[in-house]
Amino acid sequence: MNEPFKHHSNSRLILKEWSELSPGLIAGFTTKNGGISGGPFHTNNLGLHVNDNSEDVAANRRQLAEELGFPLSKWACADQIHQDQIVKVTEELTGFGTTNYDDSIKGTDAFYTNKKNILLTLCYADCVPVYFYAPEQGFAGIAHAGWKGTVKNIAGKMVQLWEMTENIPAASIHAAIGPSIDSCCYIVDDRVVTQVDEALENCPATSTAPYEKISEGQYRLDLKTVNKLLLLQAGVREENIHVSTYCTSCQNDLFFSHRRDKGKTGRMLSFIGVKDEQ
Ligand SMILES: [Zn+2]
Repeated sequence: MNEPFKHHSNSRLILKEWSELSPGLIAGFTTKNGGISGGPFHTNNLGLHVNDNSEDVAANRRQLAEELGFPLSKWACADQIHQDQIVKVTEELTGFGTTNYDDSIKGTDAFYTNKKNILLTLCYADCVPVYFYAPEQGFAGIAHAGWKGTVKNIAGKMVQLWEMTENIPAASIHAAIGPSIDSCCYIVDDRVVTQVDEALENCPATSTAPYEKISEGQYRLDLKTVNKLLLLQAGVREENIHVSTYCTSCQNDLFFSHRRDKGKTGRMLSFIGVKDEQ
């Protein structure tokens, strides 16, 4: 199995190849293990908005901050709403929403920065984490793409934004699609696949549809592949895209899953940041 997200510890996976590409870069995804939360949030819940004890979540977050060497005061945290707002993070925007959800950056589902020592974070329980990195220009980004963010093309919009406002050619951008619910466990209806078709209208590589009809009005949808096609459509090179094989719903030992756990569950955290090695 060629899995780009490798076990680093009980509580997290890291994108090993990217760390090798740039030694200061830390990108990864947490597991549900190694924390102190109880009940449906057992044990490493990192979401503050899911009715877990907020002190337990804060302790789980502090532990991750310690392990990664990025203090909470340098984290960017979002109030995620399944839309497509992308925020460029500077020092002034860090440290909010790290232990109190109400302070988090409002209505945001993607972050990017070119500043060192800032950790971009977003929460997930089945949605697709899409990571971005431009090694030469030193830009890092992360997006939260459930089906809504996916069909709004939040992944492609990040690439377009970097091209237009930061002068970074799409061909020099590396992307990674992290652990998320796979087509084995993700059934959707016509309303969703119609919007998938619309989002992929200009895709150069749509010879295989990223969904499979299983009965009238029911489809197995592969959101990872949709996001990959959107990245290709935006000009990212195929050899620069890593895709995780982990299904958050199948891997009950590693991940929380909103669908599998029927809505009452914890959140994993995606993170990316570049450390100043001086
Ligand atoms: Zn599955």
